[in-house]
Amino acid sequence: MEKICVAVRVRPPVPQEIFNGTFWNVEDNRVSLHRQHGTPISGISFVFDHVFDENCGNARVYELLTKDIIHAAVEGFNGTVFAYGQTSSGKTFTMNGSSSEPGIIPLAVRDIFDNIQMMSDREFLIRVSYMEIYNEEINDLLAVENQKLPIHESLERGIFVAGLREEIVNSAEQVIKLIESGEVNRHFGETNMNVRSSRSHTIFRMVIESKRKETNPSGDYSSSDAIRVSVLNLVDLAGSERIAKTGAGGVRLKEGKYINKSLMALGNVINKLSDGAKQRGHIPYRDSKLTRILQPALGGNAKTSIICTIAPEEVHIEETKGTLQFASRAKRITNCAQVNEILTDAALLKRQKLEIEELRSKLQGSHAEVLEQEILKLRNDMLKYELEREKLETELEEERRSRKERDECIREQQLKIQNPSNHVILSDSDRSSSQELDSRTPKEECDDSNSVCQADVFRTPSYKAAPNAFVVKRSNYSRLPDYSPLPDSFSNVADEDTWFKMNKGYIADLDMLQMTPARKVQSFPLNDATPGSNENYRQEVQKLKEQLELVTEEKNEFQRKYTEQVLLNDQLTGEISELTQETLLIQEIPRRLCESVASCKDFYEDALSTMQGFASDGNSSTAKLLSSTSEIGSSLFSSLETLFSMAADGNKSFAGNYSLFQEHCKVLCERLKSTITNLALSETQTTDNKQVKNPQCRCDNKGCAPEEETTCWKEKLSNELNTINTNKFLEASKEKYGSLEREFQLLKEERDSLVETVAESSQKLAVVTDQKENVLKDLNSELQRRKDIEEEIKQFSVAFASRQKSLVSFHSELKSKVEKLKSQNPIPVPKSLGY
Ligand code: ADP
Ligand code: MG
Repeated sequence: MEKICVAVRVRPPVPQEIFNGTFWNVEDNRVSLHRQHGTPISGISFVFDHVFDENCGNARVYELLTKDIIHAAVEGFNGTVFAYGQTSSGKTFTMNGSSSEPGIIPLAVRDIFDNIQMMSDREFLIRVSYMEIYNEEINDLLAVENQKLPIHESLERGIFVAGLREEIVNSAEQVIKLIESGEVNRHFGETNMNVRSSRSHTIFRMVIESKRKETNPSGDYSSSDAIRVSVLNLVDLAGSERIAKTGAGGVRLKEGKYINKSLMALGNVINKLSDGAKQRGHIPYRDSKLTRILQPALGGNAKTSIICTIAPEEVHIEETKGTLQFASRAKRITNCAQVNEILTDAALLKRQKLEIEELRSKLQGSHAEVLEQEILKLRNDMLKYELEREKLETELEEERRSRKERDECIREQQLKIQNPSNHVILSDSDRSSSQELDSRTPKEECDDSNSVCQADVFRTPSYKAAPNAFVVKRSNYSRLPDYSPLPDSFSNVADEDTWFKMNKGYIADLDMLQMTPARKVQSFPLNDATPGSNENYRQEVQKLKEQLELVTEEKNEFQRKYTEQVLLNDQLTGEISELTQETLLIQEIPRRLCESVASCKDFYEDALSTMQGFASDGNSSTAKLLSSTSEIGSSLFSSLETLFSMAADGNKSFAGNYSLFQEHCKVLCERLKSTITNLALSETQTTDNKQVKNPQCRCDNKGCAPEEETTCWKEKLSNELNTINTNKFLEASKEKYGSLEREFQLLKEERDSLVETVAESSQKLAVVTDQKENVLKDLNSELQRRKDIEEEIKQFSVAFASRQKSLVSFHSELKSKVEKLKSQNPIPVPKSLGY
């Protein structure tokens, strides 16, 4: 057992405030009201665990009041920290802080992740939610569409808000971003006292699950695999307010009343709890959503801190006194916190273990970060599905309830129809027994196992809970209504006197304000089955039969659609595999072209090196031409090779490189032309000179000197070279290249279109698969519905038969009694009654 930790924080005074009477003095852990000249006013002095003056920052408040709770939460203890105080006293500043001075929530979030980092022997799963209670309705701040959420209680999860979005998180930054996104959805309003006054209570909740890291290589969970699950609530309450002072009217007034109502309920709970364990009695947690949600934190299994914020201005003295009195009472509450270890599947960590293991195995090696993100995403998806399921279950429950009510209504109508047709004279004893039965509610009838509980057989058949649904086990208070009945004229609750009285410890007996009027329940009539009821029954059965037929038709339709979809699916799968084959073939083409170019290059280089072998003189024009041609050709081939290999690898910069390659070709062509022209020119000049110098060399070189012979060879070669139409070769290769290029382009286009077709087909397949799944789902639900209806008809028939039987027997019994009476006392029976 440990006491709730209570602290008081004094906000800095507003600048224009002038003190001329009294002021609040803070000294160690004491806050007391002093006169202007410094003497304390007797009786107005309070001591708490901590008292923070106006100079104290959020970090220090966190350090002294919250840090231990946060650390304990990481170790498996539930924790709650909440800020209480009048409007504008600094609650939101304390909890959320500002950009330059983070408050308890951001500090706690960072601290939790730092702690987790240090606890290397445990693995953690953290999920967060953020809700507000506005006008006594719970809204999800992380998903605006989730409004008016109900509170449920289950054995596995305790008290929880059904349908509330929970997000799995793995870093403080992520949580802070979520909070920021949630802040946008919060209800604020302007009052005389605060331009941005919180008009709702907000609860930021972190659920921390952890387990010891596996030492067992097989990864199996054994019975010792307890998972710790703790819940941390960080609560920023809306400010208590005096309606007159805040100048509230209209919407603000309505909000104010709701705020005061829930704060009063909180005050009541605190007051009752502070009475000590023996006198506690019934704690009215159910009087407001706020107290219901905070139930474990107030007098239960949680470590709790309350920070009461006060405004130092003289004008607020009364409210400040009220807050300090509230804080004093809260100080007396004891909680009993323990580490929450569970072995069931309720822990998300356990449920998600398998998937995580799978993903972790993928994590081996590279892309660790990407896969971690993937894990987080998958975890969140799983959580969303679970929440969705929970929401659906709630809706189903609602549906069942309304159906039950409808059935009840039908039954009452049937009874009404039956009643007028039965006029039976009963003896005194019979009448009294009948009255006795009349005055019993159906519930009592059912509780009494000895009596013939006819009402029972007419109840809506109970549905079996889904196997994986949470088992709802109510606490001792479960039979109480969700809320103590409160007066409609709730404006009284805003009454300041009640408010101040409550802060002093007065327990407003909200329960006594208005009792729920006893519901008059029509008794079960003691009459025979009338033709009217039979007719009703027949109609009902007929209706059900029609419904059944409709459902069967729908089912058949779904089945037909499903078969069609399956066929289409198969067809598409076939087409996709064909297209995939073709794509593979097309992707092969650039590779083959690349290989051909490489072999052409080899061939070309061989040919040129052979030719260069003939031109022994490296300085001759032939040699020069050959080496230049060889160089240009090699360069061309290399470029071509690179280009094709890029195309083969599916390189995206292929298109850009292709135009570069064309440029490159042009340059090389120019170079080749200029080389040839230069060579031709120099050759012509040399030949002219030689012709002048050595005319006989032209016709015959036999008998010439060796130098002359060489020159003659050169001349010959030059002539030969001139005769070779280099341009022709170039043109031919260019043409060839052009046609190759066109072919390649065509293939590329074809490949692109095929890839597109494949993508389209995949999309179609995905759509078809989706449709198929939906159809299957619908089919299953329809089948289930049909089964339910069949079951209902069966039960209804059985019930009807047994009722008829009992009524017949009762009728005969009655008849015999009447006969007996007639024989004992021969009073003439009116003929109209038929006896
Ligand atoms: P509440 O939530 O109680 O209505 P707020 O937290 O919104 O009040 O505080 C009202 C104003 O006072 C805000 O402008 C806030 O910045 C300022 N304030 C409150 N407490 C402090 C503090 N300890 N230090 C500085 N400014 C503060
Ligand atoms: Mg606020």
